Amino acid sequence: MALTIRCSDFNNDCPAQFTAADRDELLRHVELHTREAHQPMEWTPELAEVVKTKIQQN
Ligand SMILES: [Zn+2]
Repeated sequence: MALTIRCSDFNNDCPAQFTAADRDELLRHVELHTREAHQPMEWTPELAEVVKTKIQQN
C-alpha cells in the first residue's frame, strides 16, 4: 500500500507529487517541500490537517 498526494491538491500550479509508505513519512515530505518551495507559506498544524484530508491510498 502506498499513500500519495499532489501539491496541486492544495496549491495551484505546482507539479510536485509525493508517495510514501506511511502517513507520517508522507507528511514530512510535504512539510519539507512546503518550506523549500512555497515560502512564505508556513507549515502549520492546520495545514497539516488539510493535507491529511487530501491523501489518497493506492
Ligand atoms: Zn508544491
